[in-house]
Amino acid sequence: MQRRAVTVRGIVQGVGFRPFVYQLAAELGLRGYVQNQTGTVRIEVEGESAAVEAFCERLRREAPVLAQIESVAWEPLSVRGEADFRIDASAAGAAPAIFISPDVATCDDCLRELFDPRDRRHRYPFINCTNCGPRLTIITGAPYDRERTTMRGFAMCGACRSEYEDPADRRFHAQPVACPACGPRLTLLDERGLPIDTDDPLRRFAERIASGQVGALKGLGGYHLTCDAGHAAAVGALRARKHREDKPFAVMVADAGAAGGVCALCEAERELLVSPRRPIVLLRKLSSPRLAVADAVAPGNPLLGVMLPYTPVHHLLMEAVGGRPLVMTSANRSDEPIVFEDEQAVGRLSGIAEVYLVHDRAIHVRCDDSVTRVVGGVELPVRRSRGDAPRPVPMPMAMPAPLLAVGGQLKNTFALGRERHAFLSHHMGDLDDYEAYRAFEKDVGLYEALFEVRPACIVHDEHPAYASTGYARRRGEGEGAALLGVQHHHAHLASCMADNGLDGRVVGVTFDGTGYGADAAVWGGEVLVGGYARYRRAAHLRYVGLAGGDAAIHEPWRMAAAHLLDAGCGLSMLEGRIDAERLAVVGRMLERGLNAPPTSSAGRLFDAVAAIAGLRQTVTYEGQAAIELEWRAGDGGSGEPYPFAVDGAAGEERPVVMDTRPLIRAVRDDVAGGVAVSEIAGRFHRTMARMIRDVVAAVAAHEGLDRVVVSGGVFMNRLLTERVTDELGGAGLRVYRHRQVPPNDGGLSLGQLAVGAARFVGG
Ligand code: ZN
Ligand code: ZN
Ligand code: FE
Repeated sequence: MQRRAVTVRGIVQGVGFRPFVYQLAAELGLRGYVQNQTGTVRIEVEGESAAVEAFCERLRREAPVLAQIESVAWEPLSVRGEADFRIDASAAGAAPAIFISPDVATCDDCLRELFDPRDRRHRYPFINCTNCGPRLTIITGAPYDRERTTMRGFAMCGACRSEYEDPADRRFHAQPVACPACGPRLTLLDERGLPIDTDDPLRRFAERIASGQVGALKGLGGYHLTCDAGHAAAVGALRARKHREDKPFAVMVADAGAAGGVCALCEAERELLVSPRRPIVLLRKLSSPRLAVADAVAPGNPLLGVMLPYTPVHHLLMEAVGGRPLVMTSANRSDEPIVFEDEQAVGRLSGIAEVYLVHDRAIHVRCDDSVTRVVGGVELPVRRSRGDAPRPVPMPMAMPAPLLAVGGQLKNTFALGRERHAFLSHHMGDLDDYEAYRAFEKDVGLYEALFEVRPACIVHDEHPAYASTGYARRRGEGEGAALLGVQHHHAHLASCMADNGLDGRVVGVTFDGTGYGADAAVWGGEVLVGGYARYRRAAHLRYVGLAGGDAAIHEPWRMAAAHLLDAGCGLSMLEGRIDAERLAVVGRMLERGLNAPPTSSAGRLFDAVAAIAGLRQTVTYEGQAAIELEWRAGDGGSGEPYPFAVDGAAGEERPVVMDTRPLIRAVRDDVAGGVAVSEIAGRFHRTMARMIRDVVAAVAAHEGLDRVVVSGGVFMNRLLTERVTDELGGAGLRVYRHRQVPPNDGGLSLGQLAVGAARFVGG
């Protein structure tokens, strides 16, 4: 016989940990108690030594899916001879460690009950338990309990109440617990938003989808538009009505096996698909798929975004449509934020959806699907949102005070820093949009209340016109919180360091579309040296004019013109492709430097090369030309890099300039010589990787460093990421890339937080 006091640290509160401990102790015939204390769970157990030993072992191994155990420590106590095991009330004065769970895909136990005719929740579309179901998206305030969720209006029936109050039950303290007798219900609406009388709304909805209609489906974090992915006319109609010309749609398939019938699937990709996070995973399309997916779903794209059902409604719907792949795309028009408020849904989606499947559990927090992919066998997040947020990212340093980092302008996320955790928000979208900005303001407030963080310092981008910067300034004035501006690419560098738990100094390759530079130019092809507190600009791409500012993002030919003129090639190559008058206007703008601020943007260089190669002169979404250039390059081929020049040396005060002129002239010659676009695209990627290697190797040698982080939206590019990793590895350098947060501006707030932690002094 023995007795132990066990202390468990990590995310162990509000995740069904105490019922799990209770059941484990009961199974092993142990006595004692479990109790929540400040930031930890304390357990005392006694019984047979072997059973106590097994208990400590299984505590870690079999913990509930939402728990993240950091440590299990124990010390011996003297045996007391207790009779039972109990769940004690939380220790007096204990401040609960506040962790709010992300929304979690329906668990296997609930799924079994869903399809079990003898279960009282058989085919109930809102089945959930402590291990699964809605969380972040239904929370209205702190502390997290049923009263402060959108389940508030649903009074629990007796059967649900007894499960909720039974420590041994899987639904003990599961706030969204519900059943057909007491919980939310589905309703079918017609295209005008009027209820359609039916006793099986889900089946009627499925029939409409199967017949080729476009439906709107209320999900966890917002509405989806859905249609049969194999029905070309339906997909075409959805595209036309949504005004979404080329941007790919995601599809939902029944299970991992079905995913393998559409796309090639490696083990890491399969694991991501089936994980409780249930992200959209970008997979390589099969050349002859077993399941029909129309070309218009992801036109010209070698990849397809695939996800599995993550709510009971999805599971029932997939069954009702016989497992055919369904398009699942954010319900919105064009680039507006996803629709999530019921009052707005029908108005905003009229003319798009022909039928609606809705329910009466309100969505409080708008939350898009997460998107991810596997590069080199390891996850590379694209958008970290539903299923991930607000799970904390561990920080390599302790926060000196509670901090808020407000992120950038596009693909915004914000982050709260407390102790050694970064509570990174879900995807807020582009703050140019007023609706998105309103949600940003509301959700910053919600997170601060949920995590009890009152920021002593607000960290923001240095761009004066970002909506997030304006927000930080207003709060700084209003509340007296300290403000700290962080250079955009320094934040990218710090983000990748924090993502990898690094400290000290590194070389950072930060390549993206645009960021506000310290010299008022538009930066975006930067090699920085530094750490969290400081950085130095060691090298950058040669400046050319950003002709027309933001217009250049939508019209890559403007960047082609800028680079061609800079390289002394003239504009004759673009004649015939671009209206002569417009070409002449842009040519004059560039020559006189009017409305053409200097930029070192790497993203725009990719655009320029795509346009020169004839691939695309205009785009319908940012980065489209660059992305298509990557597709064309395939695996990169074996062509030699193009020539480039490096101006300056690593030791000098002035940053080294990566001179793109020889490269542009060589691309021009290849295009004129009729060389295939795929060949040009492959050689261009090689050139970028080789240029980065040469410059970074020199900088690293001069600084005595051997660690390199790669960050910024350009490193969403798989081929470039792999090539740069190879080249730098070949030069004896250690390369770190993102694994937990996206390389694009979605990861910016994490870097801002890390810089804030390093720089903030005083309170
Ligand atoms: Zn469950
Ligand atoms: Zn009930
Ligand atoms: Fe950026």
